[in-house]
Amino acid sequence: VPDCLVCSTALPQVPTLRGKDLLHGGPGEFTVHECPRCGAGTTQPPLTPAELHPYYPDTYGPHSSNNRLVHHMSAALLRRECRVGAVGALRRTPQGRALDVGCGSGDLGALLVDHGWAVDGIDPSAAAVERAIAQGVKAVEGTLDTVELEPATYHAVIFHHSLEHVDDPVRSLQLAAKALRPGGSVLVTAPNFGCWARRRFGPAWFHLDLPRHRVHFTAESLRLALQQAGLGTARTWTSTSTTGLLGSVQYRLAGGLAVGEGDRREALGQAAALAFLPGAWVEQRLGGGHDFLHAVARTS
Ligand SMILES: [Zn+2]
Repeated sequence: VPDCLVCSTALPQVPTLRGKDLLHGGPGEFTVHECPRCGAGTTQPPLTPAELHPYYPDTYGPHSSNNRLVHHMSAALLRRECRVGAVGALRRTPQGRALDVGCGSGDLGALLVDHGWAVDGIDPSAAAVERAIAQGVKAVEGTLDTVELEPATYHAVIFHHSLEHVDDPVRSLQLAAKALRPGGSVLVTAPNFGCWARRRFGPAWFHLDLPRHRVHFTAESLRLALQQAGLGTARTWTSTSTTGLLGSVQYRLAGGLAVGEGDRREALGQAAALAFLPGAWVEQRLGGGHDFLHAVARTS
């Protein structure tokens, strides 16, 4: 077992949990080891980008194009997420240049373009990049390790459900920090490994998403990662996801989703998820933590 991906503390040999790819049914079993110092989870075994590639099939939601009904539902859910999440911080600043790291098919970027931002994107999926470009995002194929960024260029660098997909989050945040102008911000939204739902559902927690999620953040470990990347003290908060409770219940009961990503009936699943939202909020509130974690940190 390697050291913690966030703070380099030695990880326990015994995993906190063992799980499978319940979203797409990919092969293998994976373990998550929890850091005794910062609380971050590390997915094992390590996988190379080539080994991870089959776990991102064409139907992987953030990379795929949707039918119209799903598209409208997704857009509504995304607008809600932007209001309550890290990206919401952009509504209080003048428009400028933003980089969306892991932009997928560009839904978030397109929303920001609509609000007057100039948005560049990076994503390892060629098909997703093509769709992002069609939506008005200046996207390029690759990752922060392969795409060279101009220093001091962006007012904001966004990791919207992408930082948990990398094997060296501190390095990714360092590269992001270099690309920021003075006073610019890094905005992160990721699943909250410290939440009630993760403890309640364990390997069936919807946002665990093994093996695609390589690192699992708690509020403390996300703040630490940002700090280690040379960014100022981060503000963190949590919110309730629309998909978490319904997805976790299905994983627990059926070992997968009844209505999967890329499925024509996906809009039904999204409507059901919205119906579950008040219940999810109450349960998480009582259980001591919501399932999405947000952070905003500025260059000092
Ligand atoms: Zn740690």
